[in-house]
Amino acid sequence: MIGTLYVFSAPSGAGKTSLVKALLDSTGYIGVSVSHTTRAARPGEVDGQDYHFVDKAEFERLIGEGAFLEHAQVFDNYYGTSQRWVESELAAGRDVILEIDWQGAQQVRRLMPDTVSVFIAPPSIEALRERLGQRGQDDDATIERRMRDARSEMSHYAEYDYLIVNDDFNNAVEELRAIVIARRHRLEAQQERHASTLQALLND
Ligand code: 5GP
Repeated sequence: MIGTLYVFSAPSGAGKTSLVKALLDSTGYIGVSVSHTTRAARPGEVDGQDYHFVDKAEFERLIGEGAFLEHAQVFDNYYGTSQRWVESELAAGRDVILEIDWQGAQQVRRLMPDTVSVFIAPPSIEALRERLGQRGQDDDATIERRMRDARSEMSHYAEYDYLIVNDDFNNAVEELRAIVIARRHRLEAQQERHASTLQALLND
């Protein structure tokens, strides 16, 4: 059985990371792809866990090798998804989540049309501004630049199969869970999972 590939996109400040964590805690196994990036690690981020942190030369070498399922420049840095890891997880029947931007989502949809894509939006512009300003030490220009970047990501929301508005956190987790659970109960998957039961049910 082939696993399902999920693409989740969101502007920063929409709460995607916390939602994905809660989804993983409350739903049967789903793998989350660890991207490569040229951006510097933030305090607390762990190489190999949050991202594979590489320099630009290494990133370009990986592009040349055809190592990426998709890759894109997002604002000032490069990001890419390992093709080999994703394909081997899916082939082993495991579901995989990619947390990538709209450019990567477009590439993945083109290559793998069965991908289920979900856009996560903040509940209001005020909530977004508050979340983007939360680090406290940033000046107005930095916050405004983050707002512009967020608007640019959000302008692509209509390209996705599903839209989750993260107003109430617990509701948003339930909504994400519903998408995954419904997908796992599609006829083809269930026919494979319950082949012998179905056969027995139809025969005397
Ligand atoms: P951050 O640097 O804040 O972790 O992520 C910045 C943006 O890059 C987010 O929109 C995130 O979804 C996106 N991103 C992270 N990994 C990848 C990736 O492998 N490919 C693409 N296309 N975007 C990514």
